[in-house]
Amino acid sequence: MTISSLLRITPRLAPTAAHRTVRTVSSVSGTNSTKQKTLDSILIANRGEIALRVGQTAAEHGIRVTTLYTDPDSRSQHALSSPFAFNLGSVSAYLDGDRIIEIAKKEGCRGIHPGYGFLSENSAFARKCTEAGIVFIGPPWKAIEDMGDKSRSKEIMLAAGVPCVPGYHGHNQDPQFLETEADKIKYPVLIKAIKGGGGKGMRIASSKAEFQAQLESAKSEAMNSFGDDNVLIEKYITTPRHIEVQVFADKYGNCVALGERDCSIQRRHQKILEESPAPHLPDTTRKDLWAKARSAALAVGYEGAGTVEFIFDNDSGEFYFMEMNTRLQVEHPVTEMVTGQDLVHWQILVAEGSPLPLTQEQVEENIARSGHGIEARIYAENPNQGFIPDSGRLIHVRTPATTEDVRIDAGFVEGDEVSAHYDPMISKLIVRGKTREEAIRKLGAALEQYEVAGPVTNIEFLKALCRSPDFIDGEVETGYIEKHREELFAPKPIEDEVLAQVALACLHRDSHSAARPSSGVSGSAIGFASSYMQRQLSFIESTGPNGDGQTLHVRVQQIADQTFNVEIGERVFEQVESRMDPVSHIVTSFFPHTRLDTTVVQDEDTVIAFQRGVQYRLAVPRAKWMEKALGMKDVANSVLAPMPCKILRVDVQAGDLVEKDQPLVVIESMKMETVIRSPQQGKIARIVHKEGDQCKSGTPLVEFAEE
Ligand code: ADP
Repeated sequence: MTISSLLRITPRLAPTAAHRTVRTVSSVSGTNSTKQKTLDSILIANRGEIALRVGQTAAEHGIRVTTLYTDPDSRSQHALSSPFAFNLGSVSAYLDGDRIIEIAKKEGCRGIHPGYGFLSENSAFARKCTEAGIVFIGPPWKAIEDMGDKSRSKEIMLAAGVPCVPGYHGHNQDPQFLETEADKIKYPVLIKAIKGGGGKGMRIASSKAEFQAQLESAKSEAMNSFGDDNVLIEKYITTPRHIEVQVFADKYGNCVALGERDCSIQRRHQKILEESPAPHLPDTTRKDLWAKARSAALAVGYEGAGTVEFIFDNDSGEFYFMEMNTRLQVEHPVTEMVTGQDLVHWQILVAEGSPLPLTQEQVEENIARSGHGIEARIYAENPNQGFIPDSGRLIHVRTPATTEDVRIDAGFVEGDEVSAHYDPMISKLIVRGKTREEAIRKLGAALEQYEVAGPVTNIEFLKALCRSPDFIDGEVETGYIEKHREELFAPKPIEDEVLAQVALACLHRDSHSAARPSSGVSGSAIGFASSYMQRQLSFIESTGPNGDGQTLHVRVQQIADQTFNVEIGERVFEQVESRMDPVSHIVTSFFPHTRLDTTVVQDEDTVIAFQRGVQYRLAVPRAKWMEKALGMKDVANSVLAPMPCKILRVDVQAGDLVEKDQPLVVIESMKMETVIRSPQQGKIARIVHKEGDQCKSGTPLVEFAEE
């Protein structure tokens, strides 16, 4: 799979007559004389899919690209995408603004594109770029500074007539004073770090009784994450939707709204599905939102791409300004789908000093023609375990075919490593349909073709969302996943045919490797009366929400070169003709009632099967003798690290008696803090790791004393 097949950017619409008019009008206001310089060479100060995405547009316009990488990223796709690539070294070096500016100067780059995250909303960096004579492909540093502070941005918005959530966002941080303000707002209230981002430093206080504890917790997380523990208090909207407007402004006072995106489907206050237009939004509200977003951008002297985020109260139909993100968003492709524009190209044009390519009316004409766009973020994470991030090598990747209406923006290909050091997003799958219903159907169909093995992913969960009736009806809100928990996490039964195919795959593999069991699968050869194989295999269901399920047994008997009998409990499939392609990992079998093509991949102790658009994960039980041979420690009495992580805090010590669910250790992995709670009541025998230690997934953290 080549990079170009991973990235499909919707082409810009051809300029219309009206489009040319905009340029003429703008040039009268001084375009030609103020036009800065052509950005013929840029540095991309980012990694992964967004670095590749920006590079794609640059390549389309003949712009030379310099890329950066760090030690863990040295073989990643973005690092390999340009011959002009520089190693920054350490994991966190994407944040080393001074060094990056130095490299840009040395390489003769005229501009720096910061992508999202990292330095994209760092006003000091934007300012330094400007001072070094390099164009920061983003807004003016002052606008970043004003919008980066949730309190200050609200003051500016209120002054510009943009409604904000009722609350207190002043300087007085006295806990008692803040509590009095919370009383006035009335509970529940939301406490938010003013420098917050990514849902961090945010706590709900449902009543006066819990206000102080939640305040302390928000402040401490804010201090750890942003080095600033100032907070604001606002009304907590109980059935909110997250609706944001994509705006673009140029240097000549032109500002357009490129439609809205509904990003209400979230977990841990972070988006996983985004769509445009927002479902069931009255047209007057939609137009009002766009107008308010444009006022917001104009109020801060904005230039370039920005997103004005609103919280929409589903009960009252009111919307309020939440914050403005002064960069390109992860979900920008949704807008590209419905407007037919390349937003990265717009960013470059604006940064060069060109006027906006389209007027508001033209944008609206495009939107009216384009239908519905949806993006699903594919993450290495485990929805069944609270969406905790996962990492590791992508041992198998098969992507859906891309078309005009199906786009994939990915940072990885098969064989790449999803690093525990960075965000675990693998790719974004973006589709367009004539209607919302069609878009959801297309998304579901594309997800069914998306196969990823290695780290656990959220693909199955996304499929469940696409089938969820209330989602299909557009009844979205930020609490959707919590409210539909039972339906979305319903365990999936493993069909006998899946088990049969997995067992056949194990046999095929063994026969490919000269009848010597190579798969490590616990199976016993129970007879070699002829040269044909006969095997009894066991697997453990591992798809249920509570982890491992029951053990399943299959008996396979080879009766001819490519013919087998398969027995699962009472069920017997006779004379199944079967073969496996060792390159694609596809097992093709002709059962008496159906033909099945199943991809079966093995990753250490896990077998992953893809059959009829569904992914199944089965654990292979290890024989005791094998555990001993591998020197595996008995970890039965220990609490294990659920993912590669750093220990932030240890809340217990040896000898402590703890209750079930009592916090034991706080860990950090991929920008997320997780509290590890006690699975049982008991006595702590030993703390295996101390604060600051880096641990691999599955490492014991705390040991319990024997009962
Ligand atoms: P961050 O910058 O940390 O992402 P935001 O202010 O953008 O924080 O809010 C993130 C999410 O938190 C929103 O998308 C929404 O789901 C929820 N949220 C924010 N403000 C409120 C509120 N006042 N009431 C209810 N939910 C809120």
